[in-house]
Amino acid sequence: MLTIHTNHQLKPLNTMGIDGTVTTLAEWSDAADLHQLFKNSEMGLESNPSFKAIGQGSNILFTDYKVDKLLLRCVNESIEIVDEDETGVTLTVHAGCQLDRLVDYCCYQGWWGIENLSLIPGTIGGATVQNVGAYGTEWGDVVVEVKCYDTDIDRVVTIPRSDMAYGYRDSALKHRPLNSRFIVVSTTVRLSKIASPILTYGGLSVLFAGRESELTPVDLREEIIKTRRSKLPDVAITGSAGSFFKNPIVSAQDLDVVLSNAHRHGIDTSSMPVHGIVLPDGSAAVKLSAAWLIDKSGWKGYRRWNVGTWPGQPLVLVNITGYASGIEVIALASDIIADVKEKWGIELSPEVEYL
Ligand SMILES: Cc1cc2nc3c(=O)[nH]c(=O)nc-3n(C[C@H](O)[C@H](O)[C@H](O)COP(=O)(O)OP(=O)(O)OC[C@H]3O[C@@H](n4cnc5c(N)ncnc54)[C@H](O)[C@@H]3O)c2cc1C
Repeated sequence: MLTIHTNHQLKPLNTMGIDGTVTTLAEWSDAADLHQLFKNSEMGLESNPSFKAIGQGSNILFTDYKVDKLLLRCVNESIEIVDEDETGVTLTVHAGCQLDRLVDYCCYQGWWGIENLSLIPGTIGGATVQNVGAYGTEWGDVVVEVKCYDTDIDRVVTIPRSDMAYGYRDSALKHRPLNSRFIVVSTTVRLSKIASPILTYGGLSVLFAGRESELTPVDLREEIIKTRRSKLPDVAITGSAGSFFKNPIVSAQDLDVVLSNAHRHGIDTSSMPVHGIVLPDGSAAVKLSAAWLIDKSGWKGYRRWNVGTWPGQPLVLVNITGYASGIEVIALASDIIADVKEKWGIELSPEVEYL
């Protein structure tokens, strides 16, 4: 069913809790609603192509008090089993389903593949575009195909995983021309019935040492939820958009420059986390921890008016009072970027999308 709201309040549409109004919010369930919205001239939308699909707004920063846009939010939360055999299960999940609802359901069925994504806010639409990741797992790892409504040709198209160009917090749907044309309707994923825990990150291998063969997806989910709750703010209480910046990736040569910059500023780098990775072109690089760089630059637990960094995780910018404006958050983010650049020679880039 299609529901149109005019001059809708922004605050319930973003986890950062930025307030204001949006000109139009359309809540939709399926492609027929999108057809009605875009192709029915009575809706008057053919002349207003400035739309933006949103999920829970957990990776978005509204920068203005008045957003002159058509926001589209999927309210279809259905999960459908489309294939199952002794090795695994294939599910089609609609864009409006909360990722954590799906993770919870699959873990309790004993299906492996997304347990490490426990407690990440947002919807399947958002996860599919963002390629969300945590504890060594990315959403794109389990995606089989994505169904999108193409606003140009008024038809649902199927994108196989191989065409999604998944990378670190990245996909083809994040970029032009697809981001201004395609709306995710549903995503099909394949999960495994064969135990395949990923314990490479966050101390999980130490915690579960010797018990690897007995582990269930629920064991991992429960542990990850415990850890995340101890580190991250609860968005129902304190507004945030999660990690505000991406972890920087640098070449091995650039790492030497980064270290000598830090030493010039008297910063001890002996405990600096450095994670070796292989880039899609096959070259070697290192992923650094943006949280560690921000912490060592002195921003952990910083507060200025309504905004600050979360004391348990400085990568998370928070709306401390609940009254922050988008401009205040941007000002703090810009100061952190400039300071980290000055001390380390690294330019942090926001993971959060400014709207
Ligand atoms: C406390 C907290 C912790 C977090 N932890 C993590 C983490 O561990 N790992 C991680 O990767 N992220 C994390 N995030 C970020 C966030 O949860 C993810 O980016 C999430 O996928 C965003 O989903 P959403 O539904 O809120 O999307 P939104 O923020 O609403 O939108 C994000 C992007 O997806 C697009 N989009 C959304 N739905 C659709 C659709 N149906 N069709 C087309 N485009 C669409 C939007 O246009 C936008 O570009 C965290 C956020 C918070 C607040």
